[in-house]
Amino acid sequence: MRSKQLIDLLDLNKTKLAGLLQAWGEPAYRAAQIERWLYRELVTDFAAMTNLPRGLRARLQASARIGTPRAIAETASADGLTRKSLLQLDDGQTVEAVLMLYADAPNSPQLEEPRGVHRRTVCVSTQVGCPIGCPFCATGQAGFVRNLTPGEIIAQVLGFAREVRPAALTNVVLMGMGEPLWQFDVTWQAIESLTDSARFGMGARRITISTAGEVRGIERMAREPLPINLAISLHAADDELRDVLVPLNRKYPLRDVMRAARAYAERTRRRVTFEYALMDGVNDRAEDARALAQMLHGLLCHVNLIPLNPTAASPYKRSPRARVLAFERVLRQARIPTTVRVERGIEIAAGCGQLRQVTHKSPVTGRNSQIVSVQGMTRLPRSK
Ligand code: SAH
Ligand code: SF4
Repeated sequence: MRSKQLIDLLDLNKTKLAGLLQAWGEPAYRAAQIERWLYRELVTDFAAMTNLPRGLRARLQASARIGTPRAIAETASADGLTRKSLLQLDDGQTVEAVLMLYADAPNSPQLEEPRGVHRRTVCVSTQVGCPIGCPFCATGQAGFVRNLTPGEIIAQVLGFAREVRPAALTNVVLMGMGEPLWQFDVTWQAIESLTDSARFGMGARRITISTAGEVRGIERMAREPLPINLAISLHAADDELRDVLVPLNRKYPLRDVMRAARAYAERTRRRVTFEYALMDGVNDRAEDARALAQMLHGLLCHVNLIPLNPTAASPYKRSPRARVLAFERVLRQARIPTTVRVERGIEIAAGCGQLRQVTHKSPVTGRNSQIVSVQGMTRLPRSK
């Protein structure tokens, strides 16, 4: 077991990394060298940092580490385009991260990347569990354990970046387990490492934060110089229903959420995405669609309809296809750009928290059991 005292280098922002090296009496350019190894060369071992003097490598080895969560379960969709990993963190807690490949012509059921892939998106978690507690969400049902550190968020991206090499990841969505704006500073530090051109160097426009409507966080995002995409999980256009479906609504009711969304769109000129999970007989009537259209009128936005991915412990069911399409039609007629999330996406991005739910601890061995099946997914042979 590695000691907790070791500094995870991925947890250090630029100032802290520079400060550490300065305190060790190292020249300033060492920080850039180390950043290159961590975020570009994607190394997991100090021994690989061959342009650092041996003494510095030994010092790093003794007092620092490169956080690399271990995949303890993996699943893939039948077409091989979606892969979900259950990652174990240093303290034994687990989070999910998902890789989604978008291909023009998917043609391989194998692990190898199918031909024609043009987008590689990683969906990462920001917390173990979630404090918001939406009743239809597997993560919400599991309760809240703790926040991730910036390094633990970044490590999920780097892990998949290593796997798709020599190709590069094209997009990152903070849409896994947890509420990314609950701990704004942590999330933002991770975003800065991902966008910093001397670090991972991904364009801000390729990163999306999905929030249950943490208004203070949205307001802070609007003040930051990075044009990150904002997605807001609505699921209801009236407060009474949203109080139940997204309990954060009791703190920030729709009026506040919409005011923050409008301000974000105006300030950044970015189209705000609204996610709306369609639940049978709950929020999927034509009049719900009309109320939603009215609420979004005149706003630079896009609606992403997600047919609910039912979880074991919740009473909510997926809306029938015909009602999903009828809902979409009402929005489109009101000239609100709308898409229905493709089926495989349901099993993955929207289903975050579900792999963890089915990977329970054995009462006998205390170890995690093997996955038997996850809806729509097949088990992967462990790659490493
Ligand atoms: N906490 C943030 C981000 C993580 S959840 C948020 O709520 O936005 C990512 C998205 O998946 C949210 O839109 C969430 O409402 C949706 N989601 C969660 N469980 C789902 C399920 N069982 N079926 C469909 N969508 C779900
Ligand atoms: Fe948390 Fe998002 Fe799940 Fe709600 S939907 S419980 S905010 S992760």
